[in-house]
Amino acid sequence: MSKPRVFSGMRPSGKLHIGNWLGALTNMVELQASYDCIYAAVDVHALTTDDGGSPESLRENVNEMVLDWLAAGIDPKESTVFVQSAVPEVMVLHTLLSMMTPLGWLLRVPTFKDKVRQMDATEESVGYGLVGYPVLMTSDIILYKADTVPVGEDQVPHIELAREIVRRFNSRYGDTFPEPQAKLTEVPLVVGLDGQAKMSKTLDNHVELAAAPEETKKKILTAFTDPERLRKSDPGRPWVCNVYALHKYFTPDQTDEIYEQCTQGTRGCVDCKGILADGVNARLADLRDKRRDLEKHPDYVQDILLDGANRAKEIARATLEEVQEKMGLSRANLERK
Ligand code: ADP
Repeated sequence: MSKPRVFSGMRPSGKLHIGNWLGALTNMVELQASYDCIYAAVDVHALTTDDGGSPESLRENVNEMVLDWLAAGIDPKESTVFVQSAVPEVMVLHTLLSMMTPLGWLLRVPTFKDKVRQMDATEESVGYGLVGYPVLMTSDIILYKADTVPVGEDQVPHIELAREIVRRFNSRYGDTFPEPQAKLTEVPLVVGLDGQAKMSKTLDNHVELAAAPEETKKKILTAFTDPERLRKSDPGRPWVCNVYALHKYFTPDQTDEIYEQCTQGTRGCVDCKGILADGVNARLADLRDKRRDLEKHPDYVQDILLDGANRAKEIARATLEEVQEKMGLSRANLERK
């Protein structure tokens, strides 16, 4: 029996941060043992917010992100790793699904409203592609008939929407796609160093996986802690502190001690951040070593992506052929190999 399928994509916006890692990448790595995994650098999605940068930087960002994936343990022999735009069938499926997706569903998605706010734009001024972001994401997932999608918590509304679209397609054209499910890690939402709800590159409140140890320390030292704790001797409230939240994942053996010292006012925040930085650096040391090795072979990533695109394309063509057949559309283009 063939293994169940996983799909996950990340926008290539450069090097990944510990939020991406704890929220999604650790699951992407783990699922390789029991699923047929397909992982895409979703470069077309990167264009939806107009901040994809120059064409050169978009390609460079794909490279940087895939290096992080490989260093974290994505195995290109086990999993299919490719760039979204190398399999343009996804854009055809996107157009077809957009015919059956009510605009109201898309306008209600919380991440759409957040993005509009972040871009300092209005719902009328943003690109049509941004509104359709979840339709493209649905196309990514169902083109490969994946039923499991490792993502962070912020993506859950998109997966819900994907399920709605799948239900609509299946009821109109017959059972074709499985309803995808989000697969969350134990840490589905990593808070930003500045205490904002989400660690994110755009908000510059993140720690890069690939950062040098000194850089990591410098960044963590800027983190906000309990705003009511002004002096070291003030008792702190670890339960509101994002540095303490990170301690739970990076220094699990020391959290009880840190909790006690913080609440009793015997350890200051600067000290506490130093211990966290050491924990982060220790935990990521192997990943960083592996990344440095991979960087020495510039063609390696490109070879993996080419092979991945060929493998992905085969599945994509078969699905699109089935969809076009069911929808009464021409298959001539697909049949001409
Ligand atoms: P970013 O928000 O930094 O631009 P993406 O939106 O490309 O990153 O997210 C890539 C993956 O990482 C998604 O599955 C997303 O849910 C997850 N992710 C991103 N930021 C976080 C975070 N702070 N906590 C948990 N998961 C996250």
